[in-house]
Amino acid sequence: MRVERICFNLNPGALMSRTPFGSGLLLAVTALALPAALVAQRPGGPGGQQQPRIDTTLYVRTTPPSNPVIQKMWAEGMERSQVMTLAQVLLDSIGPRLTNTDRFDAGQEWLVHMYGKWGVPAQRQQYGTWEKWERGISHVDLVFPRIRSLEGMMLGWSPSTMGPVEADVVTLPDLETPEQFAEWMKTARGKVVLTSPPNPSCRMPSQYTEFGTEGAAERIQRERAEASSAWRARTLLGGNPNEWPKTAGVTAIFTTNWSQYPGVNKVFGTPKQQVPTFDISCEDYNLLFRLASNNQSPRVRVQGASRSMGEQPVHNVIATIKGSEKPNEYIVLSAHYDSWDGASGATDNGTGTLTMLEAARILKTIYPNPKRTIIVGHWGGEEQGLNGSRAFVEDNPEIVARVHAGFNQDNGTGRIVNGGPGPFVGGQEAWLRYLRELPAELTGGFRLGGLSGPAGGGTDHAAFQCAKSPVYGTGGVSWDYSRSTWHTNRDTYDKVVPEDLKHNATMIAMLVYMADQDSELLSREVITKLGERDVTYSCPKATRRTQDSSR
Ligand SMILES: [Zn+2]
Repeated sequence: MRVERICFNLNPGALMSRTPFGSGLLLAVTALALPAALVAQRPGGPGGQQQPRIDTTLYVRTTPPSNPVIQKMWAEGMERSQVMTLAQVLLDSIGPRLTNTDRFDAGQEWLVHMYGKWGVPAQRQQYGTWEKWERGISHVDLVFPRIRSLEGMMLGWSPSTMGPVEADVVTLPDLETPEQFAEWMKTARGKVVLTSPPNPSCRMPSQYTEFGTEGAAERIQRERAEASSAWRARTLLGGNPNEWPKTAGVTAIFTTNWSQYPGVNKVFGTPKQQVPTFDISCEDYNLLFRLASNNQSPRVRVQGASRSMGEQPVHNVIATIKGSEKPNEYIVLSAHYDSWDGASGATDNGTGTLTMLEAARILKTIYPNPKRTIIVGHWGGEEQGLNGSRAFVEDNPEIVARVHAGFNQDNGTGRIVNGGPGPFVGGQEAWLRYLRELPAELTGGFRLGGLSGPAGGGTDHAAFQCAKSPVYGTGGVSWDYSRSTWHTNRDTYDKVVPEDLKHNATMIAMLVYMADQDSELLSREVITKLGERDVTYSCPKATRRTQDSSR
């Protein structure tokens, strides 16, 4: 187990010469090859439970690539990369891309414009309607018992406060019956209500383990568990949290969704919010909570500006490089384009979007006349349930049935280090064919998984796999994605790792090129058993309008 983990985390770059296709590969290959007994079962990953990974010596080259197209793609992607220039525009100037906001539209127009500049036809394709919403200024200040500007912002799709308002801050009360709660609601009119449990500490839990006295880490853990179970009892008394605040006439709701790093919160939203709702940093939320709980009468001035324009058309962006020999067979580049909007959506999924955009640029530059049609899907509405990709699959059965291969990326900025055939019986051989031609700089750290069930729904390749269409998931090194940037208020341009993003765009372009060299359309044959377990295939329907969504 330990060996497996060490090998998995090996940075091939550290072992290899930095010159393209240089020496030093033997060292990397020797270090990375695992004895068969140590090949690990990997739960999770792109396709859930899987068969053992494949021996790396079957696909990691020991010589530089000989294919001239691969050599040119390396030079285009690694030496003439445009991806960080594109990233700066998308993440800084356009910003976050919450589904069907003004920023979402601006980014889609920019994508279509960039493809146009490169001579790649691209268009916005409507897949439904969604609430059109614009974020304005969020500002929260403590004005009593002392002055302090608080770190907080409105959640996505929140209604406006209609200018700055002052209000007392109270916590959700500790009561016993719904009747008592109904009485309390009368006192909540015009107030700001704290509806999340407080955190006993906004230090990273690992610091308590490292620096605390004996038992301190356990104490914090226990207090956190007790606080959240006591809080659950309080929230249940009020019934539907989307309903009672509106009925009570509260001024605003304050929540906190701490991500276990100081200063890092997850900021979501729901179109069902009926009163202005703010995420407040762990530290400032706790401050308000302690002041309120100790009868020190906290009062805030709060402003949250926003504009809702009701249900409006919502789109995917689809770019197409037409096939010259087999225009009715398809290779799909897939990444969701939408994001949450606590920051810039840099690693979720700005980096996936940029990977596919730059890969398309590399392909158009080096391999402008593919045999098959290349489709780039920049999906909307992934964060509300893979809606853009599921709708595309429902609306384009003739394409879906003739996808030869596809690659999806959606797990942060990290360089791609795993992928696999999913449930496609011929997929493993296909991956091996493709990987064998790629430079070891790109494949040395890559672990090819075995067959697995179809992806469950975490990201967009699930929308294709359930329809038996071979779009594969890819996974990257984590950069502590789940706590530091995923859906957080710190998911910004600076978190993008340029080396890894270049690596990914170049690798995807090469995989697409290699897939296009296959002579036959990959068979649709999928596994129906995984060990003892039956494997079944059915696609949930896309949610195509706001009122049908709970997210
Ligand atoms: Zn994502």
